[in-house]
Amino acid sequence: MEKTLVLIKPDAFSKGHLGDILKRYEDEGFKVIAAKVMQMDEKLAASHYAEHIGKPYYENLVEFMTSGPLMALVLGGENVIKRVREINGATNPAQAAEGTIRKMYAESGSKNAVHASDSPESAAREIKIFFSELEMFGG
Ligand code: ADP
Ligand code: MG
Repeated sequence: MEKTLVLIKPDAFSKGHLGDILKRYEDEGFKVIAAKVMQMDEKLAASHYAEHIGKPYYENLVEFMTSGPLMALVLGGENVIKRVREINGATNPAQAAEGTIRKMYAESGSKNAVHASDSPESAAREIKIFFSELEMFGG
């Protein structure tokens, strides 16, 4: 089964949108293969966002992502990588299509509610950062 790494980011988590967002993914037909509530530290954020180190928004991004608890998920299903990116919507909620998670729940281009892997290579790399084999089920 194809898998992707999703983060329900600290903004959406603290505003109580966890259940709504999780329900949306399940309603779209995806299976929860792994899930945990956790708080990222700077080292984990640097590993996850390695390709963004040095970008003008990087320091803010790490500060935000380490600011409070989030939920990490592995979702599985047909074409899950591409479909979850579509369901999440554009990075900046001002550009996100109607009905997307970012349109509904994101507050800015930085505090944008959710993360999802953008390719099979990213998914494989990111899943390993957050979960061990023993924490994954049904995939
Ligand atoms: P996506 O999360 O849609 O894959 P990117 O990989 O380009 O987007 O960026 C990773 C994260 O970094 C974004 O989700 C967002 O939180 C933050 N980010 C990206 N670009 C900007 C920007 N121009 N200003 C502020 N934050 C940004
Ligand atoms: Mg990205």
